[in-house]
Amino acid sequence: MKKQSRSFRNVSENPCNMCMPLGGIIAFKGIQGSMTLLHGSQGCATYMRRTISEHYSEPIDVASSSLNEKGTVFGGEANLKKGLENVCLLYQPRIIGVLTTCLAETIGEDIQRITADYKLEKQRPELPIINVPTPGYGGSHSEGYWHTVKKITAGLAKETPKHSKLNLIIPHISAADIRELKRLLRLMTIEFTLLPDYSDTLDAPYAETYQKIPSGGTSIEDIATMPGAPATIELGITVEEGVSPGKYLENEFGVPLYRLPLPVGIENTNLFFHTLKEITGKEIPEEIQRERGRLLDGMFDSHKHNFQGKAVIFGEPEQVFSATKLCLENGVTPKIMATGSRTRKIDQLLAEELKKFEHVDQETVILSDTDFSIIMEKCRQMGVNLAIGHSEGKILTEREGISLVRYGFPVHDRVGGQRLLSVGYQGTLIFLDRITNTLLENKYKNYRARMFEKYYPLPSPAECELKAR
Ligand code: SF4
Repeated sequence: MKKQSRSFRNVSENPCNMCMPLGGIIAFKGIQGSMTLLHGSQGCATYMRRTISEHYSEPIDVASSSLNEKGTVFGGEANLKKGLENVCLLYQPRIIGVLTTCLAETIGEDIQRITADYKLEKQRPELPIINVPTPGYGGSHSEGYWHTVKKITAGLAKETPKHSKLNLIIPHISAADIRELKRLLRLMTIEFTLLPDYSDTLDAPYAETYQKIPSGGTSIEDIATMPGAPATIELGITVEEGVSPGKYLENEFGVPLYRLPLPVGIENTNLFFHTLKEITGKEIPEEIQRERGRLLDGMFDSHKHNFQGKAVIFGEPEQVFSATKLCLENGVTPKIMATGSRTRKIDQLLAEELKKFEHVDQETVILSDTDFSIIMEKCRQMGVNLAIGHSEGKILTEREGISLVRYGFPVHDRVGGQRLLSVGYQGTLIFLDRITNTLLENKYKNYRARMFEKYYPLPSPAECELKAR
């Protein structure tokens, strides 16, 4: 019988997630000409700038209303208005995202009213300001990301005549993954609006002059016309319906919604292309079919090595789900699936997938809203030898000797987190190679020592004593 476990504790040690507004910042980075302001203390903004910058290796500008003791007691309205004005003067943004922190939400700031007053006072009626409540205690960065994408959609989408551009709403994936999705859609000659597109803003080419707001991102005009699209594909099956931007477009404007998993792994990627074909009537081109064939070939090649893998997979729910499927398809046994998010949907989705593989079903643990002290304990109990997830999991290597395949966010102890490719047939094969090669590296690093231990075991202390006599 499959075991499921959930961590209900009052404390968290080495959390498996970042805090909620951080996800909101990333979502706003995918909107053309946008600037984000955090209503809260300076420290929150500093931590988030640093974390995002370490992963994406880009300068990250995030404004802060710098709430201090006075603002906390008497309200932060003056700070927020001054912050908004400074952002307008320094950056001339086309849109501002205001995200709240724990402090602003705890003192009960009425952000909607304050930003509306600001626009009136400064005569900026046309400036879109999107407010998103994102207290750190309200959820993980993944939840912050989805809340923000939904608010952006709800704030900018307008009744529009029908057109042929497909909506593609993505979870928080690497910049390379976004570029790959765009390449695949172009190969299929499909017109699309991808939301949010931070592939250039968070992974910009080298430039001689510094741009305060990097170019790129989904344009406000494109978001405004999303209600006229023939359909929305939302790569977010673990997302609760209440925060789904695609569900919003379906409910408010009748745009048909297809909720799919990330196209990682053969089955998920097949589903992605079949859905594109179903919506647009376009054939899957030869080039993509050849990429699929190469993935199948690679799966045969690596399968014989993967059976040794007993994996812990952790990170954002969407990534955990797709990486688990990839492991199941390729002979790696997923032992522990863990996320710092509170979504309950992933438990149910993973349980359904695991049911199809009876040999792993019996000995699997799913952890939500968890941290690395719990993950580490479970790894010890279940003999895990491979970790797949973000850099916070390096603690598993340092303390338990479990090799880590870096996947997701943040990757701060290696370069190139923004360039890790995992989606589509090509991306899947690259990801699978990384997993298999990690297992092989482990094998070749340790097999002589293990063989020696097996065939020439060291004598026990008692035997040593006997020999000494
Ligand atoms: S948890 Fe709250 S206080 Fe801490 S960084 Fe996040 S928003 Fe700021």
